[in-house]
Amino acid sequence: MNKKLQTLEEKDKEYLWHPFTQMKEWVADTPLIIERGEGSYLIDTEGRRYLDGVSSIWVNIHGHRKRAIDRAITEQLKNIAHSTLLGLSNIPSILLAEKLIKLAHASGLHTLSKVFYSDNGSTAVEVGLKMAFHYWQLKGGRCKTRFLTLMNAYHGDTIGSVSLGGIDLFHKIYKPLLFESLKAPSPYCYRCPLDRRFPACKLACAEEVGKILKRRRHEIAAVVIEPLVQAAAGMIVSPPGYLGRISSLCKQYNVLLVVDEVATGFGRTGRMFASEHEGVNPDIMAIAKGITGGYLPLAATLVTQDIYDAFLGEYKEFKTFFHGHSYTGNPLGCAAALANIEIFEKERVGDNIKLKIALLERLLTPLKGHPHAGDIRQRGLIAGIELVADKGLKLPYPLEQKVGIRVCMEARKMGLLLRPIGNVIILMPPLSISKSDLKRMVTIVASCIEKVTG
Ligand SMILES: *Cc1c(COP(=O)(O)O)cnc(C)c1O
Repeated sequence: MNKKLQTLEEKDKEYLWHPFTQMKEWVADTPLIIERGEGSYLIDTEGRRYLDGVSSIWVNIHGHRKRAIDRAITEQLKNIAHSTLLGLSNIPSILLAEKLIKLAHASGLHTLSKVFYSDNGSTAVEVGLKMAFHYWQLKGGRCKTRFLTLMNAYHGDTIGSVSLGGIDLFHKIYKPLLFESLKAPSPYCYRCPLDRRFPACKLACAEEVGKILKRRRHEIAAVVIEPLVQAAAGMIVSPPGYLGRISSLCKQYNVLLVVDEVATGFGRTGRMFASEHEGVNPDIMAIAKGITGGYLPLAATLVTQDIYDAFLGEYKEFKTFFHGHSYTGNPLGCAAALANIEIFEKERVGDNIKLKIALLERLLTPLKGHPHAGDIRQRGLIAGIELVADKGLKLPYPLEQKVGIRVCMEARKMGLLLRPIGNVIILMPPLSISKSDLKRMVTIVASCIEKVTG
């Protein structure tokens, strides 16, 4: 190892605290340090190439070093890197707001009409929940102060978004700090919390949401949901009709619907937004991860005219939404996002991914027979392979065995970077991945599963 790399590794261990990482293990290992990217590949400091199988944690869309996005950022840089949206405006943030609303409308989300920016998925959700709460206060629904969310939900890591979450491993410890949200069962067919079978169940889990809404609609401000896929729960794919049913229940009981499209937005599920699949018209939509094509931290919360209008009034009425971050509407991020969306249009990404989605499905089919592949879930170019110790009993591997982590470490040796969620192997490549790389990815995963569980 050359001197420069050694000092980088030493400095990493000396100064860095990595997210979602047990640092005791980290410092005992040799870190993989990425130096460059190229299309679907990441290249480390030793020149080794790795297929980016999880899009650098679900953000990258058109690959790394995408020329049009690189160019958009450098062009914007010649004008200005940042100015504020508090009391001022800037060009890219205006143009992107228009683009996002048109994009939402083109996806059938006709009621969304205003854009509020922030920097990441957690804040996009946080903004949405504050707006939903505030909206009802302004509308005279003083008792509508609670949120209905799902078990296994993940909406980010800030205290507000953690309050909406339902993953004990991440969230339980903070319970004394959180506001209490109402919880409905997760639409997790493989391990149905109601012990029913789809479609005979007639979406009993959605009806549970209906029961809670019926009983408590006067105290519920909004239902918050990850549409189609509970991503951080291990890519739990909801059964067809579920999302649409939730949406109509919200309308029926006069409760706002907040869709968290942070993971599912920007084409991942095969449509621009997951909500589009079931013709859902949310009141609030949070988007982040893929918005800049995976280049820069930017997020947006899209809302209806009705919500926006509720906050209008004379200054002295103090109806203003007093919320905003230092980098809200950052011009570089907005320029990257504009370029990202233009690529979708110019390169007909929506059409191209259809074939890749079908290919991924074909490639995963043989794995379904594997004795330790308990459940294989796919929605668009998102897939989760839930590994089990005993398939007949659906017996999970104890987390201490780190089966998911071991499979991904084997994959790394073969030039594929993945990050599991517990016993679930996650596949979420950039939408631009080539068909041959898609094949390579599944081939490596299959052999690593065999190696670790065999
Ligand atoms: C990743 C994620 C978030 C949080 O986004 P950050 O940018 O990491 O704060 C929120 N909701 C969902 C559904 C996510 O997948």
